[in-house]
Amino acid sequence: MGNKVTDILGSASAIAKGMGVTFKEMMSPTVTEDYPDGPAMLQERYRGKHELQRDANGMEKCVACFLCAAACPVNCIYIEAEENQDQKRISGGERYASVYNIDYSRCIFCGYCVEACPTDAITHGHDFELASYNTSTLVMRKEDMLVPFPPKK
Ligand code: SF4
Ligand code: SF4
Repeated sequence: MGNKVTDILGSASAIAKGMGVTFKEMMSPTVTEDYPDGPAMLQERYRGKHELQRDANGMEKCVACFLCAAACPVNCIYIEAEENQDQKRISGGERYASVYNIDYSRCIFCGYCVEACPTDAITHGHDFELASYNTSTLVMRKEDMLVPFPPKK
């Protein structure tokens, strides 16, 4: 009899403790996002779709050195390099990327390309809505990633 009473009291105490945690959480501010019904709030460090940056004069920062492609563990960066001409200068260096593709069906957003870039030409933006039923649409071209000049306000 004594054991039964102890068991019941123990269970009631455990239930009360559990309900205490539940009610405390119910009263706390919500930390989950309401996406897609509301905007997703991303941390500054979030690694989304890449951006190809320009310098203060609007020149492309990428000098087609291929270091990002060499650092990529899944080989999803494809670059074609061309020489800048005096009458047609695209980047601040000798060469520029005439083609710069990233295949997002393979990219694992590791950030190695960003770390490898000597000119800070490639960075992670915050765009993450890349899902598609057609993998051929997941190959982004330079034109899809190059930031506008002058920058958008
Ligand atoms: S984030 Fe990683 S996987 Fe994606 S392109 Fe850069 S190096 Fe390659
Ligand atoms: S993005 Fe950076 S690392 Fe990649 S080719 Fe251009 S300059 Fe080189």
